[in-house]
Amino acid sequence: MFRQKNQTPHSISETLEKQCFENFHHERERLKEKLEAKRKEFEENAIKINDEEEQERQTLEKEFKSALSNLEQLTQDERSQLVQQFSEEKRLIEAGIKKLDICLERFDWEKFIRISNSVSELECPVCLEEMKPPIKIWQCMDGHPVCDTCRRRPQVTACPVCRQDIVGRNILAEKIAASIFSE
Ligand SMILES: [Zn+2]
Ligand SMILES: [Zn+2]
Repeated sequence: MFRQKNQTPHSISETLEKQCFENFHHERERLKEKLEAKRKEFEENAIKINDEEEQERQTLEKEFKSALSNLEQLTQDERSQLVQQFSEEKRLIEAGIKKLDICLERFDWEKFIRISNSVSELECPVCLEEMKPPIKIWQCMDGHPVCDTCRRRPQVTACPVCRQDIVGRNILAEKIAASIFSE
């Protein structure tokens, strides 16, 4: 940039301008290269990050699939266990129903009804208790029964049903009671 003999002020200015331009151009090229290098570096890092991400994603996916399959296995085990339990319970209930059916088939309904009616006939009209053996049963002239306990009460001076005198034991009722309550 030194002024030379053959250089006119005009050409000095031109030279300066040219040098400036060259410097500028050179600097621009340098920056461009630097930028390019940075860009490459960035891209490489980005690829690396992508690879790592991909690897991590694959690992997670593998873990997830394995966990899912474990869960499915567990659920299946539980399900088959429930099915087994259910069929066992069903079998027991069905066996119980069968037993009940047999009992019902063998059950003597006529006898049951007969006994039920007799039992209500064997109720003392005063205390409303069943006159079970060995309790003595008393009666009036018409055969209305009254239990021994009630007959001994001072308030009970006559038949509680018809007000007639109590005349004696009702041996037949006692025998019926003995046969019914012994069963
Ligand atoms: Zn009584
Ligand atoms: Zn009576």
